[in-house]
Amino acid sequence: MPAQIEKRAELYSGKAKTVYTTSDDEKLVLHFRDDTSAFDGEKVEQLERKGRVNNQFNAFIMQTLRDGGVATHFEQVLNPSESLVRRLDMIPVECVVRNLAAGSLCRRLGIEEGRELEPPTFEFFLKNDALHDPMINEYHIRTFGWASDDEVERMKEITFRVNTILTRLFLDGGLLLVDYKLEFGRFDGEVLLGDEFTPDGCRLWDAKTRDKLDKDRFRQGLGGVVEGYEEVARRLGIALQ
Ligand code: ADP
Ligand code: UDP
Repeated sequence: MPAQIEKRAELYSGKAKTVYTTSDDEKLVLHFRDDTSAFDGEKVEQLERKGRVNNQFNAFIMQTLRDGGVATHFEQVLNPSESLVRRLDMIPVECVVRNLAAGSLCRRLGIEEGRELEPPTFEFFLKNDALHDPMINEYHIRTFGWASDDEVERMKEITFRVNTILTRLFLDGGLLLVDYKLEFGRFDGEVLLGDEFTPDGCRLWDAKTRDKLDKDRFRQGLGGVVEGYEEVARRLGIALQ
C-alpha cells in the first residue's frame, strides 16, 4: 500500500472478491478470495491459491493492456492477493467477445463447441444475479439508462481492442482466447476497464490439444482448476508468488 493510503472498511463482498474502501476516496482495495462459484453461485468451493493466482494474473493482464493503450482502473499490486484500483461508478453491464463458440452461445444457438467465429461476436449481459445475468441489447441499455450511447460505443471499442492485444498475447503462449467478459466503470467522465481479467472470466484452451485451462474445469468438474490457471500464468511468463 502506498505509505499514505490505508485500507478501511469492507464495501462489498461478491462471489470471488471483497472490495474495501481506503483513506483515499478515489481508491479501493480488491481482495481476490479463494472462493470459486459457478451457475449463479449455486456451486461454490474454496480452491487453494486461487485468490493469489488471480490477483497476480490480473495485474499482469491489466499492465499489458495499459501498455497497449487501454485505460484501466488498475493502480498496483499490494500483496499476493490484493490490488489497489481506482474507484469507479460501475456500469451494470457485462461485455462478452467470443472468438470460438463455447458456453451459453452453444446452448442458446445450437452451435457446436469450438467453431471459429469470424468475425468475433459481441454480446451484452445485464449484471444481475437474481435474473441470471440476462442477455440484453443496446436498446435495453438506452431505454433503461444503464449507459449512454457514447459509453456503449466506448465499451465496444475497448472490448475489441482488448481482443486484439490478448489474442496475440495468449497465442504466443500456445493458448486460444475463446471468449471473455469485461466490466467497465466511469471515472472523471471517462470509461475505464474495471473488475478483473483472469481465467475465472474467460475461456482459454491449449492451441494444440484444446484442453481447457480456465473456469470450465470447475464448471465441468474436471479437477486441476488452479493448476490450469497456473499453467496459463507459466506460459505467459508470470512469476507467481
Ligand atoms: P460479483 O459482484 O459478480 O459477485 P466479485 O466477487 O468479483 O463479483 O466482486 C467484485 C465487485 O466489485 C463487482 O461487483 C465489480 O463490479 C466491482 N468492481 C470491480 N472493480 C471496481 C472498481 N474499480 N470500482 C468499483 N467497483 C468495482
Ligand atoms: N462470464 C463471466 N461472468 C458471468 C458470465 C460469463 O465471467 O457472469 C464469462 C465466462 O467465463 C466466459 C464468457 O464470459 O468466458 C462467456 O460466458 P457464457 O455466456 O458462455 O456463459 P457461461 O456458459 O460461461 O455461464
